[in-house]
Amino acid sequence: MSEVVEGTLYLVPTPIGNLSDMTSRAAEILRDADIVACEDTRHTRILLTHLGIERPVVSYHEHNKKEAGPKLIEALQAGRSVAQVSDAGMPVISDPGADLVKLALAEQIPVVPLPGPNAALTALIASGLDARQFVFVGFLPRTTANRKELLASVKSIPFTLIFYEAPHRLKETLKILREALGDREAVTARELTKKFETFRRGRLSELLDGLSEEAPRGEYVVLVEGFRGEAEEAGPEGSWEEEALELARTLPVKEAARQISAKWNRSRREVYQYLLRETANS
Ligand code: SAM
Repeated sequence: MSEVVEGTLYLVPTPIGNLSDMTSRAAEILRDADIVACEDTRHTRILLTHLGIERPVVSYHEHNKKEAGPKLIEALQAGRSVAQVSDAGMPVISDPGADLVKLALAEQIPVVPLPGPNAALTALIASGLDARQFVFVGFLPRTTANRKELLASVKSIPFTLIFYEAPHRLKETLKILREALGDREAVTARELTKKFETFRRGRLSELLDGLSEEAPRGEYVVLVEGFRGEAEEAGPEGSWEEEALELARTLPVKEAARQISAKWNRSRREVYQYLLRETANS
């Protein structure tokens, strides 16, 4: 017997890459709900076809939510059940759905969430960073002022920070994070649950160094370790450049770069290249 109850809004997570991650309960709700509300009807039809489900789909996304939301509420009030999905992962999490949930709750319409795929948590559990406490930041705001304000507000939080980013902005975002938070330990999680799933771990500067010249491809979650106390903020006295040059007088450049990168949280490659440049003509 179906668990779908009339007049109920179901929030249904869908796979973030691997179609086998659809839970059987989520598939059942999609099969039995009267209406499937989705971000992109073509995208969701592909999923429904894969699951062998035929259901009317209506679009509900950031750009039509003002009109589509009240219509879905009317349908719910008329006793129809609605399953809401986004293109991938959990609806509401950096995806449409939050407004629909608020509208439904304001009308005393039952809202039932289903557990399931989510990129942030999937990345966190294999990141190796502290997963006891974390802050999900999601996409950074586009405007510099808003971005600065947001990063300033999370800078001193001692919990792992989780960001979403589009591939063409990844490099820029890693630079912004390094500037705003310092050269912290970080992880990029790419193409989770897919064939080319890749985790990279290191300081933000090392992750930047490791990116090729071309724009990265695929989907990314970026995780950054939390604030580690006053010591991190104060940093050692002086400048790493001065100290590196001083050390390079008595040590091989490679060894000087190793020591400075450890002490100052800089990437070894950055220090090494700086020393090569600065000592080339001396
Ligand atoms: N609602 C989704 C969730 O629960 O994870 C997130 C949707 S948000 C519009 C899309 C972003 O999530 C991508 O830009 C990327 O940062 C992240 N993402 C989604 N799928 C991913 C995957 N398979 N691997 C890595 N990151 C992914």
